[in-house]
Amino acid sequence: MKYRELQIQTQRDAPSNARTEGYALLVRAGYLTRENTPTPLGRQALSRLQKLAKETGDNFFSHLSLPIISSNDEIYFPISTGSTEIIHCPACGYASHLELAQFAKTALPPEELLPTQKVLTPDCSTIESLANFLGVPKEKTAKALMFRRLSDNKFVFVVVRGDMQMSQAKLTKLIGEVQPATTEEISRSGAVAGFASPIGLQNALIVVDDLIPQSINLVAGANEAGYHLLNTNCGRDYIPELTADLAQAKPGDACPNCQKPLSTLSAYLLASHDEINFDLVLSALAEIHHDDKGLTFPKGAAPFDVYLMQLLGKELDTQTAAEELYVTLQKENVAVLFDDRNERAGVKFNDADLIGCSVRVTVGEKNLRVGMVELKPRKAAENQLLPISELVSKIKGT
Ligand SMILES: [Zn+2]
Repeated sequence: MKYRELQIQTQRDAPSNARTEGYALLVRAGYLTRENTPTPLGRQALSRLQKLAKETGDNFFSHLSLPIISSNDEIYFPISTGSTEIIHCPACGYASHLELAQFAKTALPPEELLPTQKVLTPDCSTIESLANFLGVPKEKTAKALMFRRLSDNKFVFVVVRGDMQMSQAKLTKLIGEVQPATTEEISRSGAVAGFASPIGLQNALIVVDDLIPQSINLVAGANEAGYHLLNTNCGRDYIPELTADLAQAKPGDACPNCQKPLSTLSAYLLASHDEINFDLVLSALAEIHHDDKGLTFPKGAAPFDVYLMQLLGKELDTQTAAEELYVTLQKENVAVLFDDRNERAGVKFNDADLIGCSVRVTVGEKNLRVGMVELKPRKAAENQLLPISELVSKIKGT
């Protein structure tokens, strides 16, 4: 393809809305508009990545030299501006979407089951206020969450330990889509919001986190405004229909594989269940593969293999010689971007570096006279001279 056909517009300065270096370079090199829409050059880059993915299959990501994190069925690229929150174990590499991440839970030490006892707890409708008022740690309380299941309008009562958050993604995976229960639905079940427990409820699907059956003598609501129960025990005071992992992992929790502390990261979700997000792959490539002059895509990941340009000659027709090379390379299935502009050499060299094709080939008068062209791999410091007859095999070999 030719530079002018693609209407490439490179820019000297980074856009003011650039949140990352990679995004700024993709705009400056003319892959994206300032509104983050791919240009014809950007679309060419995306289709080359799709082609590479088709050719390399499961090994696609190993061709991109990206610092990725993989889970069973997803691939992440850690970056502070990413919109996907993940849990990651730096020690063993365990990774998962935050909402579905597992962690090793530690039960409190065993103790004797005590009889329940109703206590007055005015103004204690949150776990914090309740724990403060009774002087118990949050892990000795039961947190209640109430929903309606959309498929059958069933009232759902969830219990997690008071020091943990429930993951709605885990609940949804277990029982289907839910939405928060209304005041009317709550009172119909016999529960009282702010003072709710699963004890004595009517027609409720009781679901507890798998740590709850091992958590002895928890403080829970008394289903009566202003009152809580001390020493409630799952299995004795109520029987759950379902017991499953429902708690959301947080940084510092223990890794399910190696028990070391987990951390959270923001990331791009590059692939999920074999479906690749090529726009984000291009963004990730630009973040990692660049230098102070521009993009430096790995071979096969650049929109073109070769950036071909000619320097205007005084006596020889470099333009025609370059056109001939362009045709030859295309016949050999080499993807070429031919800079066919009548621009100064410096402008073309700068754009070649900015756009980041793997190799630059320059047709100049002095070298052409002796049947040579100049070849410069994007990441190499030096140019090399090459007989034109050897160009195709050299490029295919690099
Ligand atoms: Zn681990």
